[in-house]
Amino acid sequence: MAKMGMVFDLKACIGCNACVVACKQENSLPDGVFFTRTLSYEHGTYPNTRRTYIPTICNQCEDAPCEKVCPSGATFTREDGIVMVDRDKCIGCSSCAVACPYDMRTMLDKDMFEKGLFGTGELTPFEKQGYERFTPGTSVKCDFCSQRVDAGLDPACVSTCPTNARIFGDLDDPNSAPSKLIRDRDGRQPLPEKGTKPKVYYVD
Ligand code: SF4
Ligand code: SF4
Repeated sequence: MAKMGMVFDLKACIGCNACVVACKQENSLPDGVFFTRTLSYEHGTYPNTRRTYIPTICNQCEDAPCEKVCPSGATFTREDGIVMVDRDKCIGCSSCAVACPYDMRTMLDKDMFEKGLFGTGELTPFEKQGYERFTPGTSVKCDFCSQRVDAGLDPACVSTCPTNARIFGDLDDPNSAPSKLIRDRDGRQPLPEKGTKPKVYYVD
């Protein structure tokens, strides 16, 4: 069985945020909602300073706390390991948002759907088509662009990254690009002490 995962190469990321824009566009995300972000961290002492960019995303945990606490079965893991949310089953209780140790859940603000981006009650064409994908008040998160994965494509952030800092593939396949990177460059998972077994790794 496949186990889809992602590796972030911290040496390659230049913090351009092209991935963030691609994700917003692909998933028609409402104002203020992000499925991926790029954090930046400055280190060293002047004049010998350096900035490292750290992409973040839902870690598609193998032992996902968000799934364990979901009372309606809305959060589930599909066969290829991608953690999904069924918007028709989600009751908007926010338990997943509280349980996620990585703060990767967003509860969709009902007002956003009524007021629109400019607060006038009129939705832009982008909002109109985008909001059809969502149910106000429910929980959303990254699902590795499952619609693209099903079509044999990489997630939008991976396809867009100009420096190949995001590497996607099957972690169960020892010859996949992410598996090789994890092995060769000692890949590390975020907050391993939480016991969530993320399918996202970092190499530097
Ligand atoms: S990172 Fe958070 S939202 Fe994503 S699978 Fe893990 S616990 Fe769930
Ligand atoms: S908000 Fe929805 S997905 Fe999250 S725990 Fe509640 S029912 Fe499950």
